[in-house]
Amino acid sequence: MRTPFVAGNWKMFTSADTARKLAAAIVAGLGNEMRVRVAVAPPFPYLALVGGVLQGSLVGLAGQNLYPEKEGAFTGEVSPTMLLDVGCRYVILGHSERRHKLDESDSFINRKVKAGLAAGLRVIFCVGETLEQREANHTEAILERQISQGLIDVSTSTDLPERLVIAYEPVWAIGTGHNATPDQAQQAHEFIRSRLAELFGQATAAQLVLQYGGSVKPDNAASLVKQPDVDGALVGGASLNADQFLAIVRAAVA
Ligand code: PEP
Repeated sequence: MRTPFVAGNWKMFTSADTARKLAAAIVAGLGNEMRVRVAVAPPFPYLALVGGVLQGSLVGLAGQNLYPEKEGAFTGEVSPTMLLDVGCRYVILGHSERRHKLDESDSFINRKVKAGLAAGLRVIFCVGETLEQREANHTEAILERQISQGLIDVSTSTDLPERLVIAYEPVWAIGTGHNATPDQAQQAHEFIRSRLAELFGQATAAQLVLQYGGSVKPDNAASLVKQPDVDGALVGGASLNADQFLAIVRAAVA
């Protein structure tokens, strides 16, 4: 019922040359596979370049961030319409690196989510607890807070599942090589879906795609994505290698 979705977050990696080659290898490897949706999020300077390589393919282009204003004196920032203009279909918002390294608050992320959705971008909204929060048994309270505050004034609509994706990314699993176990991921996803049902209604929540992110690799992807509430993956490190990324994509449709 839900089409799996695998997205690659290239973070602040690649050069023009490696970005072009990586995108071309992913396009070639994906071919006409339509049982899974795929997107890549290159750094801003390479969006147009990578967008050109993706043209006519089934791989979508994603921004890694946006600033929640249409235009203005915001030096160094990028607006939702600029992302659309350069060919982005998606944007990643609320990533833990922006929450924790750049101090983004729930309310600022909420402004970004609303701006992205209003502009017509498909928003990949990330949530997840730190290790300390998990060890203190606060995981659900943190997810509850991030979801309820990050999605304030996002109203339910029949096309919401096309426009909003939630990525559960436990901070302790990102870039560490320690992924959540399939059970831990399923538990968190089930909780997130129950919260989404309270916000948007049962029918909409059942259709929303929930990605797991945090050290997803070819050898653990299948066990994670076969959990009933895990509908794909947001991939960091392994998305910088076309073979590894494509193996994760294949695991999502197996
Ligand atoms: C990420 O950046 O969203 C991520 C999950 O990174 P990694 O796969 O490297 O843990």
